[in-house]
Amino acid sequence: MRAPKSLHIGVYPGTFDPITFGHLDIIQRATRLVDRLIIGVATNVSKDPFFSIEERVAMIEAEIKSLPLPVDVEVHVKTFNNLLVNFAKEEGAQLLIRGLRAVSDFEYEFQMAGTNRKLSPELETVFLVASESYQLIASNLVKEIARLKGDTSPFVSPKVAQKLKERFLNQS
Ligand code: ADP
Repeated sequence: MRAPKSLHIGVYPGTFDPITFGHLDIIQRATRLVDRLIIGVATNVSKDPFFSIEERVAMIEAEIKSLPLPVDVEVHVKTFNNLLVNFAKEEGAQLLIRGLRAVSDFEYEFQMAGTNRKLSPELETVFLVASESYQLIASNLVKEIARLKGDTSPFVSPKVAQKLKERFLNQS
């Protein structure tokens, strides 16, 4: 079903393995730009995610329930395993939302944005920057901290921190 032209629809794609305060900050910022935000959870077998797709979706859904989101913006969590531009087209999105953390993200993100523009010229990539305190958070570092039995609470919600703790409990 194609959405009416006046509706602004954005797709925020990622692996979300697991969802962090950085992701949540970007989600909140994105809801100021669109009428409907689709959080696209990539199956992403190439990244060999730590949490299953079902676990990642469940964690995102639990998190967005407790976010102060604008009441007039719909937020949906959907999985995809096809080409991102095709997923965005299926959803009727005009905007592709990505977060930028640091200069180190830039080269990859710039290349992706250019490639996606070639594939789908009508889809506009928008980069958002998280609040200063969340800018450095990365899922990979959070997993490493949890693996080494460190405190992940500055980076993820208590629910996600608990899930990480349980998962690493029996691993040496
Ligand atoms: P991917 O595998 O697509 O990089 P991620 O889940 O790691 O998926 O990230 C999804 C998006 O969120 C990316 O655009 C990434 O740059 C952005 N992102 C992740 N963490 C942060 C953060 N702390 N601040 C800003 N953007 C972030």
